[in-house]
Amino acid sequence: MSDTVHAEVVVLGAGPGGYAAAFRAADLGKKVILIDKGESLGGVCLNRGCIPSKALLHLARVKSESKEVSSFGLKYSEPEWDIEAVKKWKNERVVGRLTKGIAALAKARKVETMRGSGVFSSTNSIDVTKSDGSEVKVTFDDAIIAVGSRPTKIPDLPEDPRIMDSTGALELDGIPKRLIIIGGGYIGLEMGTIYSAMGAEVTVVEFMPHLLPGADPDVVKPLLTKLKKEFASIQTGTKVKTIDPQKDKLIVTVENDKGEETLEAEKVLVAVGRRPNTQGNGFEEIGLDIDERGFIKVNEKRQTNVPHIYAIGDITGDPMLAHKATHEGKVAAEVICGEPAAFDTSIIPAVIFTDPEIAWAGLTETQAKEQEIEYDKGVFPWSASGRALALGRTEGFSKALFEKESGKLIGMSIVGTNAGDLIAEAVLAIEMGADAEDISLIIHPHPSLSESVGNAAEIVSGSITDIIAPRK
Ligand code: NAD
Repeated sequence: MSDTVHAEVVVLGAGPGGYAAAFRAADLGKKVILIDKGESLGGVCLNRGCIPSKALLHLARVKSESKEVSSFGLKYSEPEWDIEAVKKWKNERVVGRLTKGIAALAKARKVETMRGSGVFSSTNSIDVTKSDGSEVKVTFDDAIIAVGSRPTKIPDLPEDPRIMDSTGALELDGIPKRLIIIGGGYIGLEMGTIYSAMGAEVTVVEFMPHLLPGADPDVVKPLLTKLKKEFASIQTGTKVKTIDPQKDKLIVTVENDKGEETLEAEKVLVAVGRRPNTQGNGFEEIGLDIDERGFIKVNEKRQTNVPHIYAIGDITGDPMLAHKATHEGKVAAEVICGEPAAFDTSIIPAVIFTDPEIAWAGLTETQAKEQEIEYDKGVFPWSASGRALALGRTEGFSKALFEKESGKLIGMSIVGTNAGDLIAEAVLAIEMGADAEDISLIIHPHPSLSESVGNAAEIVSGSITDIIAPRK
């Protein structure tokens, strides 16, 4: 006989969506239980995703900057990696500190955290097998499902420890001489940047004709130019047929319109997307509506077809981004607590933390064209930015799209150093319904990269002075 406990709100999954939902519900006065099977709170993002990868990308950037500045008159000798020290720093001082912080925040809010695997046994209960083997039934008034996603596997690839997913790659257990990355998306390019900086010869094999298929091709171009110099090879329009594990290497057969080719590497990283953790949690058994890709269907309040069961984050569909999950988590918690909250999915910024970074918010130019929206475009090249020149990083640009009919900003894409931070202004501007003049009239700090956002708007409003305005 298992024990039974009751929660007003139970949250299954403690990633950035789940813990935000639990904390918001607790702050609004609910008795909350937060269940997760992981060793520490924070889910994939904090433990095995966004945060550790950003720590390593920072080191990769410092390494490449130390080389860049040599032609400016500051010379360093070749940096040396102490991988064991890097792992310790990443695990203890970055990830460990954050996950401990989340645990402390849960405690301060009196959110009960339960370590174990939860399976819905009815529309009002979850059976939890705790990490110590004991079992608990958690009954609830409302539940929020935030169980996330896992890496997609390519069918028929052999099981071999040298074929890694993003979790394995972040562990840094041996830097291979050669690394083949299957998938030229977010993870492929971020991890490729890290491994290349650590000395691996990186080959990217991407199925689609372009890297980062979701971004505008002109925005990807400056990144591609840099990666072509750093990586051993980038093969687009290419698919992986087989991987043949040998004693000392993996032989990867790829195919494209030129025919078949074999590549060799000591390790392979598979980064071909993520899929929702739909199976084994009792979702189907309790009658939740699930689409053909395995995503739980939700309305704008993040309610499933069982109105007191909510779902948020990767389990509800694309884009699978932590900041979307966090926002949805707060919406679900507020709806449960009787607040007039809803999720508006139109503006979810996307950032690829490569070097240069790529970020966009609202519509990309490709999407604006597909949707036959007429727009005015302002593109400010960073070669005209004093700050970019001072950083030695002029390859970037900021591109703003304003709808012709309303004059409002509908999309912004930025490529360049710190694009991921700069895009926040565009998110605010789109949310606030700003037009080109509104953004042009904002005084941006000088000299800063943020000026480029104002400059892109000035090109459209006609007030640009930093460059000769392109002819209309
Ligand atoms: P992704 O969707 O970004 O990229 C996968 C890539 O693999 C695509 O370009 C796709 O065309 C390609 N592909 C698919 N099948 C292939 C095959 N058989 N052979 C070769 N290429 C193939 O997915 P990801 O990089 O695995 O990342 C997963 C998700 O994690 C992302 O979609 C994103 O939501 C999230 N993520 C976000 C960040 C960030 O916000 N900076 C970083 C990492 C991951």
